[in-house]
Amino acid sequence: MVKIHNFGAGPAKLPEEVYEIIKKELTNYENSGISLLETSHRSGTYLKLNTEIQAVVRRLLNVPDNYKILFLSGGGQGEFAAVPLNLISRTGTADYVVTGAWSAKAAKEAKKYGKVNVVTPHTERYEGIPDQSTWKLDPNASYVHICTNETIHGVEFDFVPDTKGVPLVADMSSNFMSKKVDVSKFGVIYGGAQKNIGTSGVALVIVREDLLNHALPICPSILDWTVNVKADSILNTPPMFAIYIMGRVLQWIESKGGLEKMAELATKKSSLVYNIIEESNGFYYAPVAKNARSKMNIPFRIGSAKGDDALEKEFLKGAEALGLIQLKGHRDVGGIRASTYNAVTLEEVEVLVKYMRDFYNKHSK
Ligand SMILES: *Cc1c(COP(=O)(O)O)cnc(C)c1O
Repeated sequence: MVKIHNFGAGPAKLPEEVYEIIKKELTNYENSGISLLETSHRSGTYLKLNTEIQAVVRRLLNVPDNYKILFLSGGGQGEFAAVPLNLISRTGTADYVVTGAWSAKAAKEAKKYGKVNVVTPHTERYEGIPDQSTWKLDPNASYVHICTNETIHGVEFDFVPDTKGVPLVADMSSNFMSKKVDVSKFGVIYGGAQKNIGTSGVALVIVREDLLNHALPICPSILDWTVNVKADSILNTPPMFAIYIMGRVLQWIESKGGLEKMAELATKKSSLVYNIIEESNGFYYAPVAKNARSKMNIPFRIGSAKGDDALEKEFLKGAEALGLIQLKGHRDVGGIRASTYNAVTLEEVEVLVKYMRDFYNKHSK
């Protein structure tokens, strides 16, 4: 069988070393004689794991002492609801910066719980980040929400917006732990784990203490950050195995040199792909503005800006024959999308880029 290189957007590739650890630990977790899958969430074994993973998050991101770290059920979209449920009561309104499908979805969810202002111009084409000077920010907003990396459209922030003291809330689902982040500039950071730091079922949430205690009375307890801080993320039975895998991935990141190293690799890997796109004289076309191009998800078309259906199909078919899989673009965008998360190695990206070069040479006149 041909060696598989998984460029899927999520659930995405996990590091091979992490699979080796999971295999070893699956039926006998830390010499307990049983699997973590059948261990009590109130046991000392799980409490230790819970504490260890919080510590590795704190070390990797240099999380200041006045922030709490939570592992919650419901994934990224659970937090789309949790954000307004926990914060919007402060003033009744919230600002949403909409730069792609995910931030649009977050804004839509928030409308159930209060007044939502979309501060960016309406557009169907998400191909960049509108200049900050054009955002209509409300100084009275409870918070400003951004999505730091739009997984579907491939739009990534390379800066932290200035919200003039209004708490900044960021969905980092698809670029969590891909680079250093100054946590102190954010009120809340959250993300589902299954893109860059683990598997589905858990959201990692980092929340500044002064933003606790504002939940709406209707907020379900399992989405209430304050309740979950008091319960140390063990309010009910948490998605323990997903949390465990996330922990092992974060320890792997640490062992590989931490976020500085991940960032260096992300730049290298994504540059290889963007460079062949640029060199192809329009044969490959990346729609996103250069200053907002994602280092995690790279959407592109083949043949023209609109894409040539037959060429794109041929590209995907040839890619699969070489083991390069899950490269089909999201149905809303079409074309091709290569996701180059932490677990995707430089060597794998080189295989993809070589294929892109060969395919271009074969089809360009
Ligand atoms: C995948 C994704 C989500 C949704 O995550 P779920 O865990 O499936 O709810 C939210 N935001 C971003 C940026 C994503 O990539």
